[in-house]
Amino acid sequence: MYPSGEIYGGFRSSYDYGPLGSLMLRNVKDAWIRSMVQQRDDVVLIDAAILGAPQVFEASGHLSNFSDPLVDCTVCKRRFREDQLDDRDCPESKAKCVFTAARAFNLMFQTHAGPVEGEGATVYLRPETAQGMFVNFANVLQTSRMKPPFGIAQVGKSFRNEITPGNFIFRTREFEQMELEFFVPPSESAKWYEYWCKTRMQWYIDYGIPAEMLRIREHAKDELSHYSAGTSDIEFLFPWGWGELEGVAQRTDYDLKQHAEHSRQKLEYFDQATNERYVPFVVEPAAGVNRTMAAFLLAAYDEDVVNDEPRTVLRLHPRLAPFQIAVLPLSKKETLMPLAKQIYSMLSTRYMCDFDETQAIGRRYRRQDEIGTPYCVTVDFDSLEDKSVTIRERDTTNQHRVSIDTLLSEFQSILGY
Ligand code: ATP
Repeated sequence: MYPSGEIYGGFRSSYDYGPLGSLMLRNVKDAWIRSMVQQRDDVVLIDAAILGAPQVFEASGHLSNFSDPLVDCTVCKRRFREDQLDDRDCPESKAKCVFTAARAFNLMFQTHAGPVEGEGATVYLRPETAQGMFVNFANVLQTSRMKPPFGIAQVGKSFRNEITPGNFIFRTREFEQMELEFFVPPSESAKWYEYWCKTRMQWYIDYGIPAEMLRIREHAKDELSHYSAGTSDIEFLFPWGWGELEGVAQRTDYDLKQHAEHSRQKLEYFDQATNERYVPFVVEPAAGVNRTMAAFLLAAYDEDVVNDEPRTVLRLHPRLAPFQIAVLPLSKKETLMPLAKQIYSMLSTRYMCDFDETQAIGRRYRRQDEIGTPYCVTVDFDSLEDKSVTIRERDTTNQHRVSIDTLLSEFQSILGY
């Protein structure tokens, strides 16, 4: 990851993801979609617009409520979030900061649509993906045959004009979210809230974060968002302390009711079995893609010793690693290249593969260990005769020989997909 616009000194509130980072970022989102949409018959996916009309955010309460308490230092003129203040010193002097009283600072980015600025042209960049699910609730009900309990999921960019972005990709002004709005009969809200807290916690563990680096923390009443009847944060032990990866919130019927009132549309569910009409309650697991990626990286980072040499290894889950397999011809000699390329073509129909022919084989293994590639396939001179290759495993460094004919099915059985 690089600070965006790095050649101009960097823009610390947003980051660009490079050749490896972008693959891993995509894998995090795919892993979420697989478990939240693909492997469930009660959740559908949408992709809503980033630019939103003021009416949406007026109804949702974001225009009036989505703010952080901002304080200014009257000495060094810097600005801080009041709830994140420690005893601060002014930079380049020994003076202590002196803070003003806090005022509400709205976190939404505002821009204008069309060639004329001014009243009527104002639009907002969404500060969460969730509103896309609420404003499309009726569309989805009409077109999907879903009935509560069911969910609408979305993965995409959100924007918040954070007062103090920082800690690398933990808090930025442009970021991605993975959110599910799960619509339930009102009496089932508490049950589903518990279900989603447990299910989401398990997802992080399944993808390789040790349970002791995770905790779930229930919000105190004065911490709750304007729409929430109860929220728990799933937190990860970052090097700087516990930090939120995901919030699981009981949003009640707040959003659907607000949008129904402001749009004058009916946003409710008619249950033909019981002849009942009701506004569903919503349970929302809302996760950040970038923070989650940082957590997976931190949890996977390891240093060990192999053959008396120290090595750095990223023990990433194979589904999250940028490459699942690296194809390594033992030498650059022309004789090995056609077979190695053929194997690369075969494996890359199913897996993201790297191809590396530079430097000694040991160096190449280390390079793949460092970027988390779980398996290397080495093509050597014997391969030309015995039509077999060596699979080398990242975590154990064990090697075994496999016939090229069965290579794809071998990986299918090792990786499970
Ligand atoms: P925080 O308290 O850290 O500001 P939040 O409670 O406001 O976060 P939510 O509104 O619950 O965050 O958003 C859901 C998720 O979106 C968060 O758990 C986080 O992973 C992610 N997220 C929110 N704001 C940012 C940001 N500025 N940068 C990166 N990720 C973010």
